[in-house]
Amino acid sequence: MSITSTVIKRAVRQAPMEALTLVERAVKRPLFGCQMCGHCILQDTAFICPMACPKGLRDGPCGGTDMHGMCETDPSMPCVWLRIYERAERLGRVDRLMKLQDDLDWRGQGTSSWISLVKRAADRMHPAAREKS
Ligand code: SF4
Repeated sequence: MSITSTVIKRAVRQAPMEALTLVERAVKRPLFGCQMCGHCILQDTAFICPMACPKGLRDGPCGGTDMHGMCETDPSMPCVWLRIYERAERLGRVDRLMKLQDDLDWRGQGTSSWISLVKRAADRMHPAAREKS
């Protein structure tokens, strides 16, 4: 097999993934300010992206807000986690904030969290296949 055909085959295999990544970015950036972290937890954070936190905290606030709920790192913005809590309370989803989140694998930054979700589900259903690959 020539190098050219290998490159073409790889490009054909990658194309759907790249298209999905573009669609995810196009939809979620304007709606949620998505930064394409690669592992979405919007469903647990009242649909406010936690990656807007300047410290990138995904498990709750740092505790450094001022008396008015403004961020200690960027005093021009309200604490992202305060906004998440207030919206979760309005939506009746505070219980979801108690869930401990996995550490973010930064290698996935810029990739589609939709693809990663499908891969994780497949790994859970077929763990043996994952070990072989
Ligand atoms: S994929 Fe990551 S950066 Fe994008 S909305 Fe979800 S949590 Fe935020």
